[in-house]
Amino acid sequence: MMFISLSVMRKTALSLLFIILFTNSLLAQKQRTDTYTLLKPDRVFDGQQLHTNWQVLVKGNHIEAAGPASSIQAPADAKTIDLKGMTLMPGMIEGHSHLFLHPYNEVSWNDQVLTESRAERTARAVNHARETLMAGFTSVRDLGTEGAAYDDAGLKQAINKGIILGPRMQVATRAIVATGSYGPKSSVAETTLPQGAEEADGVDGLTRAIRSQIGHGADVIKLYADYRWGANNTAAPTFTLDELKLAVQVAGSSGRFVVVHSSTEEGMRRATLAGVRTIEHGDAGTPTVFKLMKEHNVAFCPTLAAGEAIAMYSGWKKGTDPEPQRLKDKRTTFTQALKAGVTICFGGDVGVFTHGDNARELLLMVDYGMKPIAALQSATAINADVFGLRNLGNVKAGYLADLIAMEGNPVEDIKAVKAVRLVMKDGVIVKE
Ligand SMILES: [Zn+2]
Repeated sequence: MMFISLSVMRKTALSLLFIILFTNSLLAQKQRTDTYTLLKPDRVFDGQQLHTNWQVLVKGNHIEAAGPASSIQAPADAKTIDLKGMTLMPGMIEGHSHLFLHPYNEVSWNDQVLTESRAERTARAVNHARETLMAGFTSVRDLGTEGAAYDDAGLKQAINKGIILGPRMQVATRAIVATGSYGPKSSVAETTLPQGAEEADGVDGLTRAIRSQIGHGADVIKLYADYRWGANNTAAPTFTLDELKLAVQVAGSSGRFVVVHSSTEEGMRRATLAGVRTIEHGDAGTPTVFKLMKEHNVAFCPTLAAGEAIAMYSGWKKGTDPEPQRLKDKRTTFTQALKAGVTICFGGDVGVFTHGDNARELLLMVDYGMKPIAALQSATAINADVFGLRNLGNVKAGYLADLIAMEGNPVEDIKAVKAVRLVMKDGVIVKE
């Protein structure tokens, strides 16, 4: 009897506790959706253009109004944030990250894949996610865990549940490579090492790998259209045009895009004809292939910062030594892409270099010939459009309140993006 009454008491107490918690969380939610914040910066870059004397009113997790100060009617109880001297703009969208990698001058890629535990890699990724967000990058397209299985899908869940701080994530999970083409490579022919991506080939193999990755949480499908598996370890195409077309078809029927790593002209040509969404790196791109990309509406993600970082890891001293030929060539191909009018996506391949230093790519895009405003458009409205993020990348009524503010004017001096002072994600200020 005693036992029963105790258990009843416990149940009653538990239900009460549940009701209190539930009500509290409902209250919190209600309070949040009813909360207004008025942001008063010197200027607003809305993802397309720069405006002076604009204000932005945030309600709950979305932008309620944005425009000339005189047109904004904020309720009397709105919280006002003065952003004197600052530029407000959409949270930036990193187009090519690897939150499960860290700079190769700390630990080589091979050793990260082969000797770091999954737990260590996740622990690092948690730090990387926070550093990315605090630097003003409120969304990332993370293009492969490089041997850490589907842990990016788990990291994304942890961020979405509010367990850790990080950007919104589009994830590629394991990514797909042609059998025998990727790494780490073993010097002993009969030894098979764990690979940095999933091997798959042909109609059945590719179909199964793509569907399996989707089932494990992939938002985007990444394939390596070429890799350094050619004679003398040169970059050479991997998948056939038919294989790439199949991948686009299989991923496409689920509403997902295909993104390819490609640095050879032939890999880029095949990927373009297959109908992929973006091409990453493109080191050996040519005017012909960039023209083809423009015609087929394939965006180009040049990853300039990764190229520069790798040159520095192999001894080049920026500002002292003459620029290595590889980087000079990269300038040439980037100029050709701009001339061809290819949509330029912003993505640095961060992870090869330090997370949180994502803006390095923006500075290089300008250094390599883009106007600051065009680079900023890439990092916001253009990336949102290319990645299918319909309610992000713009300061516009109805869009999600992912907003950042920085000192100075990045349209005049792109370096301003390195001084982000305020970060708001989903209407919540995470850095002030
Ligand atoms: Zn990459």
